[in-house]
Amino acid sequence: MRMVFLGPPGAGKGTIAALAREYYGIPHISTGDLFRNNIKNGTELGLRVKSILASGGLVPDSITIEMVRNRLAEPDCARGFILDGFPRTIGQADALAEMTGLDAVVDFRISKEEVVKRLSGRRMCPSTGRIYHILFNPPKVEGKDDETGEDLVQRPDDREDAIVHRLEVYEEQTEPLIAYYASKGLIKEVDASLKPDQVFDLLKKVLG
Ligand code: ADP
Ligand code: ADP
Repeated sequence: MRMVFLGPPGAGKGTIAALAREYYGIPHISTGDLFRNNIKNGTELGLRVKSILASGGLVPDSITIEMVRNRLAEPDCARGFILDGFPRTIGQADALAEMTGLDAVVDFRISKEEVVKRLSGRRMCPSTGRIYHILFNPPKVEGKDDETGEDLVQRPDDREDAIVHRLEVYEEQTEPLIAYYASKGLIKEVDASLKPDQVFDLLKKVLG
């Protein structure tokens, strides 16, 4: 199963991808996670993209496309993959079409009000990337990762000003991909406003 998760920041793509990865036995490729790992490890790529991520803008297509091309060439992608957060522009979608075919593009439907609530309460384990929400999915011990016990962090781009900017960028650059993929007959919609288990059930249903 080769699929793309499309939807605004905060729609729950990463949360559902963590479930779908296990269920379908395919890797979860989040371009945001790949960039954040490079930043954490102080790589050359990380240094180039750090301030872009913090502001909520998009990393240039050329850099992003090369990173994904390399990742998709790894052997674990041979049986399929979940691309989360890529493509985000028409240019990226055209480049992806040259790299691989797709079986489905899942459109996570949710209101702007709800994603703002989700993003502002999001917390993350810095080493594993595990995602929590202070109200909707709190850790067992406040502020600590359930498994490693590490301090959870708030992403710099989950602050109010960056959230507003990211939602504008989504509307301008990424939302047009829904029509792009609909014209190819690939779009499968899920109601992303429900609870994670319910969204995952819907996903399995639409994927058949
Ligand atoms: P979210 O989970 O909130 O949608 P991501 O973790 O996917 O956010 O992305 C975080 C940031 O990483 C983006 O705001 C952007 O700066 C950068 N980024 C991630 N994917 C892409 C992409 N496909 N193209 C350009 N920039 C990207
Ligand atoms: P995305 O990858 O689309 O940016 P995330 O999976 O990181 O979204 O989820 C954003 C925030 O919303 C996180 O704090 C997560 O715990 C929370 N969340 C995810 N899915 C749901 C859901 N179905 N209901 C309530 N909160 C959710």
